[in-house]
Amino acid sequence: MKNYIIIGGGIAGATIAHQLDSHNLTFDLVDNNPKYNSTKVAAGFWNPIVFKRLTMSFNADVLMSLLKDYYPKVEQKLDTKFVHNTPQLKIFSTKEERHRFINKAIVSEVSQFLDDEPIEEVEGIKAPFGMGKVIGTGFIDTVEYIEKSLKLFESNSSYINGRIDYSEIEYANEFVKFNGEKYEKVIFCEGYHAINNPLFPELRLKPTKGELLILEIPGLSQDYAFAKSAGLIPIGNQQFLVGSTYDWEDMTEDATEAAKKKLLYNLSDFLGLDYTIIDHQAGIRPSSYDRRPIIGKSSKQGNAYIMNGLGTKGVMYAPYYSEMLIKHIENGTNLEEDVDYLRML
Ligand SMILES: Cc1cc2nc3c(=O)[nH]c(=O)nc-3n(C[C@H](O)[C@H](O)[C@H](O)COP(=O)(O)OP(=O)(O)OC[C@H]3O[C@@H](n4cnc5c(N)ncnc54)[C@H](O)[C@@H]3O)c2cc1C
Repeated sequence: MKNYIIIGGGIAGATIAHQLDSHNLTFDLVDNNPKYNSTKVAAGFWNPIVFKRLTMSFNADVLMSLLKDYYPKVEQKLDTKFVHNTPQLKIFSTKEERHRFINKAIVSEVSQFLDDEPIEEVEGIKAPFGMGKVIGTGFIDTVEYIEKSLKLFESNSSYINGRIDYSEIEYANEFVKFNGEKYEKVIFCEGYHAINNPLFPELRLKPTKGELLILEIPGLSQDYAFAKSAGLIPIGNQQFLVGSTYDWEDMTEDATEAAKKKLLYNLSDFLGLDYTIIDHQAGIRPSSYDRRPIIGKSSKQGNAYIMNGLGTKGVMYAPYYSEMLIKHIENGTNLEEDVDYLRML
């Protein structure tokens, strides 16, 4: 009997799977491998700073140190490269914003992440007040991470391609059964689809649609990501991701003209170069009501667990909270109260 069955192969499911493997625990992962899910659409960027207040984002110092260890190890395991350590330039809107950034870079809880020497000019970027450099940012190519991971699991006979209906899983005290196979436990990593999961009726998700564009921008430096009213991330071959939008009403997975217009309008605020639109994608983020991840045990079934609520920060959250969940299940260590599913009961 394998130890786990994981439902869902986005960043939550794939990362749980790698972490289980590193603890010598066995699993099967089931995913319907859609062309787009939240993970495959995501820009994959990580940034420890909340720009609005120039404070550290939730648990960022701890999350960053695990992230920097975890993803390169998986790159080695998968024999590929998907981690890009790319500094981000915050384009200042005012003189006051520039001063505040420099002051915070000199002394504050986030000074380790901010460079106190502003950058005045990058060709093609409109930045009359200059730009502040954030240190330690970067992104992962989420499509490469997921596709190579699923391929490895498939070659190890631990990947099942398909969509599970909840009624197909049988539960007993000592095991769960799917497709004639027994597993000790199940972990649901279904992204926003979890809103229908009968084993987690208390789950409070606030799914958020997001859209981004891929542009080709000849002449723009690929050494930096840029942030102002939109984010611009270099992905190679003079191509850049432009993101993202936030929509709590439209829950279709289709890309919309309105979002495209908004992104291009925001971009025109700081980009002074011509571009060509290469692609436009949409996905639905599994955000939680309190913007914290959700991990823990079902209130209905003792051997069913969840990892969800990764919201806008899947890349930072997945390595740390998947490890926390596994240690909780296997060794009985406590979950942080802020992220425990129990807070929803
Ligand atoms: C436009 C956009 C930009 C983003 N940018 C960033 C960013 O820069 N940085 C960042 O950290 N995050 C970003 N995110 C957010 C990030 O993508 C999410 O936090 C993360 O992808 C959530 O991953 P997940 O595994 O929980 O869900 P998903 O990626 O949605 O994966 C869930 C998977 O489970 C499958 N599934 C569900 N139910 C079943 C079932 N019954 N049977 C089989 N399979 C099932 C689904 O088909 C899917 O493949 C962005 C998101 C969007 C939409």
